[in-house]
Amino acid sequence: MNHSQSKALFSRAQETIPGGVNSPVRAFRGVGGEPVFFKEGAGAWLTDVDNNRYVDLVGSWGPLILGHAWPPVVAAITEAARLGSSFGAPTEAEVRFAELICATVPSVEKVRLVSSGTEATVAAIRLARGFTGRDYILKFEGCFHGAGDPFLVKAGSGVETLGLPDSPGVPAAVAGLTLTAPYNDLGAVEKLFAERGKDIACAIIEPVVGNMGVLIPEEGYLQGLQALCRAHGVLFVLDEVMTGFRLARGGAQEVYGLRPDLSTFGKVIGGGLPLAAYGGRRDVMSKVAPEGPVYQSGTLSGNPVAVAAGLASLQALRSPGVYERLDSIGRELEAGLRAEAEEARVPVTINRVGSMFTVFFTEGPVFDYASAKKSDTARYGRFFHQMLEEGVYLPPSQFESAFLSLSINEPEVAHILRAARRAFRALGT
Ligand code: PLP
Repeated sequence: MNHSQSKALFSRAQETIPGGVNSPVRAFRGVGGEPVFFKEGAGAWLTDVDNNRYVDLVGSWGPLILGHAWPPVVAAITEAARLGSSFGAPTEAEVRFAELICATVPSVEKVRLVSSGTEATVAAIRLARGFTGRDYILKFEGCFHGAGDPFLVKAGSGVETLGLPDSPGVPAAVAGLTLTAPYNDLGAVEKLFAERGKDIACAIIEPVVGNMGVLIPEEGYLQGLQALCRAHGVLFVLDEVMTGFRLARGGAQEVYGLRPDLSTFGKVIGGGLPLAAYGGRRDVMSKVAPEGPVYQSGTLSGNPVAVAAGLASLQALRSPGVYERLDSIGRELEAGLRAEAEEARVPVTINRVGSMFTVFFTEGPVFDYASAKKSDTARYGRFFHQMLEEGVYLPPSQFESAFLSLSINEPEVAHILRAARRAFRALGT
């Protein structure tokens, strides 16, 4: 493939944009090489600036569950923009949107719209602190909740649970209020809550993790965590920015039978436009300003164009059988990828829940941050580039989920598996 236009643009971009990209993982540092610049998406396919075409398994990192430029979404955006792109005042559509979320996700009795997943998680944490009067939060090693200061913390090794900042610029005093525990380890939470439970405002978790690659909760883990939270007066915050309306209409909480105190949403709910939300228990959400004292605001919150895109997307997801279809395409791809890897004698672990999956280059199993890190990332990088050359766009990092869309049909599955056959064989030799 010729990538000369992408190369020229990347070199130009680096003059005026830090690292040439507006979000770090786009720079391909996780896989080496240089990023591809895209100019068009249609259904399952992306076209880059050199006119190469790829089946898209990134879907803008999750939002595009319908595929690119889904006609009803494009029509809704166009119509909303024609009527005015922003009012900074209430609209009927945002009321309908809030009603739709509350009707679809039973734990959400009230909801506030914001513009990004990060805004939603930052606001949820502030609300949890405001409601409980406690300062500490618990997050899980390797989980990502956006770029807010309290989340840029991982655990030290072993039993070390005091937060250390992952990024310069996050004050130690802020990071120190974030406690961490390994994912899929209830015993660690039990111990932590026994010692410090009364200081902890909330536990925030990705129910199915996407941000260290896909990790699947062990049987009873999330339910056990919810019960521990209840026992210690710790609010249970489910970060459904990735999983909301993707794993099921009612998100991971529907799949695993959970009733979180607060939930955060983003990605799918905006249909590819900047829209996110946080919501939950009526008594907790009633503390949000102006109903209550916990402040949170946004100039473009509930933006009418974004809400129109979100409504059109969620409408499309109401069609019967859509989640079953995503799951069956996922199952077919998983089986095919596993067979091709075996054939080429490349050891992999494939974790998948519905339309989210990761091929880890390790014998596995992969169930927490430590086991995810055993993956051979250099090998993933070679696989990624081989797949790219074969016309498949995978996430440019081992520690990200691939996402399927409803635009992926049999021809695309065949294309992906043909590419994977060549890519695994190239690794095996
Ligand atoms: N929470 C989760 C689980 C995410 O995956 C992300 C982003 O990938 C966020 C929060 C942050 O969302 P945003 O990038 O829209 O700020």
